Amino acid sequence: MELSAFSALSPKRPQFWQVAKRCCIIAASIDVAFFFIFLILNSPILAWVNLLSIAMYLTAYWAFGQRKNMLAISLIWLEVLYHSALGTLMIGWDSGFHYFLLMFVPAIFVSMSLKPAVLTLLGLWVYYLSLDLFSWYYPAMQPINATAVVGVHIFNLTVVFIMFGYLALYYLNKVNLTHDQLRFYATTDPLTKLRNRRHMSELLKRALQNKHAEQRNVSVLLLDLDHFKSVNDTHGHEVGDKVLRITADILRDTVRDHDKVSRWGGEEFLVFLPRTNLNHAAQVAERIRKAIAKYPWHTVINENIQLTTSIGVSELKPDDSVNTLVKRADDALYRGKEAGRNWVELESEASCRKPKTASSSPSD
Ligand code: GH3
Ligand code: MG
Ligand code: MG
Repeated sequence: MELSAFSALSPKRPQFWQVAKRCCIIAASIDVAFFFIFLILNSPILAWVNLLSIAMYLTAYWAFGQRKNMLAISLIWLEVLYHSALGTLMIGWDSGFHYFLLMFVPAIFVSMSLKPAVLTLLGLWVYYLSLDLFSWYYPAMQPINATAVVGVHIFNLTVVFIMFGYLALYYLNKVNLTHDQLRFYATTDPLTKLRNRRHMSELLKRALQNKHAEQRNVSVLLLDLDHFKSVNDTHGHEVGDKVLRITADILRDTVRDHDKVSRWGGEEFLVFLPRTNLNHAAQVAERIRKAIAKYPWHTVINENIQLTTSIGVSELKPDDSVNTLVKRADDALYRGKEAGRNWVELESEASCRKPKTASSSPSD
């Protein structure tokens, strides 16, 4: 599995900083609202403190833009710590300013590695508890009337709910994205972007378990490029890789939408054909064989050579496993190689050994 699959989990987490940047603007806007609210409520200290908060959030926003993430995060921490404490001490616990501290809990674990995150969480808990206990024993320093406290409480609670909802959506998106990336890397061959062998084996296993009637006619094609080693030896590995990518494109273009193509091994491909009996599968194989034989390979290789493929075909039998089904295609493929290559060969129990359209002429 490629390392890039884990980049979303690395400590840098660029998208997290984007969200933090957006939160700065949201928080600064909320503080603008608070400035007027506290002026109206006749609480001038808290009103003017909001101007300081707005300046801190705008500076943090600028710092994120300059990639000074540590400065930005420190400013956000400082603002939330002093603002929630000041609001709580001035107006009282019921104001709900302390709720903002709780928003750090999930953010701590996204922005730090585990050990500092646990220590920071512990520090935050002590800070929160201290404010709580202080409010139990000491009255508010600059109380406002009870109706106004209810108003501020509802406002703070609403903002915290919205911010938590926003963060939860961010985490959900992140998890879904990471899941999709991991799934892609776990199921896809990086060179050809076809399904890899593990994924194809799973698909085949599922098809075999499905006892539904339309699933009974299932066939597979096993393709192996002829004399592919000599392409690598003569023209280099990069040309070999290009040939494999083009072969994958030819396969994708030649089969139907519901057929499934995979890279089975080095220069081997397995095509899974649902709702296809052996004779129809042989026709598909023949189409593929011709498409590869007719491809203008000289445009890739810069030499007048023709690449060909041999294909083994097998059809699902009632007591088949994935291994036995693929083994019969593999045996047929081997016989196709023996027969001179550029060949479609059916599994040996089949009534006809190869389709009438198959040609042993390498140029066809
Ligand atoms: P045959 O007709 O009998 O199949 O002969 P062949 O030369 O195709 O078979 P062989 O198994 O001897 O060679 C397969 C070659 O495929 C050898 C290996 O270097 C090459 N190969 C496997 N994977 C890759 C790949 O990802 N890229 C490239 N360029 N070559 C690969
Ligand atoms: Mg091979
Ligand atoms: Mg080969």
